[in-house]
Amino acid sequence: MHTVTLIPGDGIGPSIAEVAVRVIEAAGVTIQWERVDAGMTAIDKFKDPLPEHVLESIRRTRVALKGPLTTPVGSGFRSVNVALRKEFDLYSNVRPARSFEGVPSRYRDIDLIIVRENTEEFYAGIEHYIDPSRSAAETIGVVTRSGSERIVRYAYEYARRHGRKKVTTVHKANILKYTGGLFLEVSRSVGAEYPDIGTEDKIVDNMAMQMVINPHQFDVIVTTNLFGDILSDLASGLVGGLGLAPGANIGYSAAIFEAVHGSAPDIAGKNLANPAAIILAGVLMLRHLNETAAADRIQEAVASVLREGKCVTGDLKPAVPVGTTEMGAEIIRKLT
Ligand code: NAD
Repeated sequence: MHTVTLIPGDGIGPSIAEVAVRVIEAAGVTIQWERVDAGMTAIDKFKDPLPEHVLESIRRTRVALKGPLTTPVGSGFRSVNVALRKEFDLYSNVRPARSFEGVPSRYRDIDLIIVRENTEEFYAGIEHYIDPSRSAAETIGVVTRSGSERIVRYAYEYARRHGRKKVTTVHKANILKYTGGLFLEVSRSVGAEYPDIGTEDKIVDNMAMQMVINPHQFDVIVTTNLFGDILSDLASGLVGGLGLAPGANIGYSAAIFEAVHGSAPDIAGKNLANPAAIILAGVLMLRHLNETAAADRIQEAVASVLREGKCVTGDLKPAVPVGTTEMGAEIIRKLT
């Protein structure tokens, strides 16, 4: 039996998280879920977007499944997602983008892994207006040698463990000569320690174009925080959209699994959201918990529902879309 912290999130979060819980239970894994609220829901209840009992739960369970959390744009509280990554030093954000048969998308047979540095650079929230009249603002993006080394090493170790052939480092070292330059320098020196894995680097703007015109040339991609954020949404677009893209935030003492997508306020409360991304995040979580057989079964159940294409949500453009709960029920039916 495992104990896992469950943060249902807000927007579409609670409905898709609930489906993921039911799917994991249907696969026969016994999990004691510690349900806790963060973000807007926690502000309503506790006047604090990240209450101490949430942190205490994750400290104890060391594993969490998380629905998306809304971050107010421009003002309001800072991102709880980012705060969690910092609090638990979840330095590695692993975001696979894989094609599923039956899903309408521009390409077939995409199998990319984006390894995004998750704690440094522009996401660290070191920013302020430079004067009281707010005539200008600055954000400080700090890139460290140790932070770069551990994420690049994670990418190469991941490649080795999973039989991957190549790691592409993405940077902007031509313009950001210090932060980008440091990341690239570290990446080249770590890469030299892995002669069995191919190594290359690309400037981020070219990379975005290359991923659109010829994504099959890439395998494992490692990059800094903001570029990783943007390129992983791009990668999800190559395989059918955000509804299918899971992510894992991994640190030394804890791991938090979530969908790449956000709280989708435009479709919240309408039973329209695709639950597959968070279910696939649950699959990553089960692999982390060494529940490999259950993970494989759920992966196959999701693949089978997508392949048939009859019981899927509207984002996947079926002739007749079904709702979040109905798609979840069909995945469970495949498991039982
Ligand atoms: P979003 O990912 O929520 O939505 C982008 C588009 O994709 C929308 O049209 C949405 O309807 C669609 N979409 C997203 N998930 C879907 C799903 N499961 N099924 C079908 N369609 C789906 O991005 P956004 O609108 O830019 O952000 C909304 C909020 O989410 C913001 O407050 C943002 O900060 C937050 N956010 C949170 C996380 C997280 O919790 N890790 C990640 C990204 C964004």
